Amino acid sequence: MAVEPFDAVDLIAAKRDRGTLTTPQIQWLVEAYTRDYVADSQMSALAMAILLNGMTRQEIRDLTMAMVASGERLDFSGLGKPTADKHSTGGVGDKITLPLMPLVACFGVAVPQLSGRGLGHTGGTLDKLESIPGWRASLTNEEVFAQLAGPVSGVICAAGAGLAPADKKLYALRDTTGTVEAIPLIASSIMSKKIAEGTGVLVLDVKFGSGAFMKDFAKARELAQTMVELGTDAGVATSALLTDMNVPLGLTIGNANEVRESVEVLAGGGPADVVELTVALAREMLTLAGQPDADVEAALKDGRAMDQWRAFVTAQGGDPDAALPEPRETHTVTAPEAGVLTKQDALAFGIAAWRLGAGRARQEDPVVHAAGIELHAKPGDTVAAGQPLFTLAADDAARFERALEALDGAWAIGEASDHTHSPLVVERIGANS
Ligand code: URA
Repeated sequence: MAVEPFDAVDLIAAKRDRGTLTTPQIQWLVEAYTRDYVADSQMSALAMAILLNGMTRQEIRDLTMAMVASGERLDFSGLGKPTADKHSTGGVGDKITLPLMPLVACFGVAVPQLSGRGLGHTGGTLDKLESIPGWRASLTNEEVFAQLAGPVSGVICAAGAGLAPADKKLYALRDTTGTVEAIPLIASSIMSKKIAEGTGVLVLDVKFGSGAFMKDFAKARELAQTMVELGTDAGVATSALLTDMNVPLGLTIGNANEVRESVEVLAGGGPADVVELTVALAREMLTLAGQPDADVEAALKDGRAMDQWRAFVTAQGGDPDAALPEPRETHTVTAPEAGVLTKQDALAFGIAAWRLGAGRARQEDPVVHAAGIELHAKPGDTVAAGQPLFTLAADDAARFERALEALDGAWAIGEASDHTHSPLVVERIGANS
């Protein structure tokens, strides 16, 4: 039997006592954990020590690169064009990947958008797209390359199990040991998958506020800075936008309804906030990919982005003209009085949509594609008494009661002076910020 170069207990004790782990120690730890030599109990103790005592920049970099090395690393250098990807830390009504991918791809940049499914109150891009009849989320690496190399120039598909398997194991463990919230662990988890994916450009949409993973702005900023440093150190041109997630994005929360709204944006319309964020992220991706002057707004207005979308849906087996699933039951909540909508809490609306069936509690659960919420007004809008505020949609009317419970106190009508407008994109963090 090969002699192990380190003892996991020594490394745990070092982190517990605020010490610093060396590059070979971290490389061994991740490799030995992936082959089940280091036990889950030891890795949980270490994750807790990291949550409490933090990691140096070098340690975070070593952890990230060790997780990259635990699996395959895709290489798109043979495509003959730049590659750009976006990662969002997740929010309510966040359908931005859907209009963004074709919008960037129509400028000849390849967009390898390897995505996940929703868990809890934040939706998953693949779940939304699976509302389109026939659309397929699973592609082989060969199919990904062929689609990126050709005129579609973009994929949105499930990340293969071969990318950063150490992260998959560690993330599942963190989920059950109260250690998800550590910034070094979140940053290395997200960035190991993105670096392994092989993109040349990465733009991060790091959200803060009630519906975000990071509620606190300062923490979101620290996460963004850490991830930008990790990407830059690994040779990926990386930047981040810090964006407000206190209010749901757009007017739809769910799956099929979010696809409909994305198609509206691709047709040159759609809600102002969804358009604003799509355009801001597309500009950022195209600038880092060498096209700072690309007129992304024109591509939304003149149908180029829509043509790219239709080609993408078709390439992955979907019918862009097919009717999307409709809910069996709806329930509309109206304004009890006239005034200005002053509050619409993203977390509560996300939980309500989840309870309606749009999200899942366990990774293996199915989602109800037609379930969700349509918002008829946004904070700052003037509403008349009796005017619809939002409509809940589900396959079973029995779901409305618990969704309405989640929305208790989540919205308010008041005076115009009670409403303060918050900018959506609050800050950009680049490699030298
Ligand atoms: N998403 C990830 O991929 N990893 C984390 O640790 C948190 C969110």
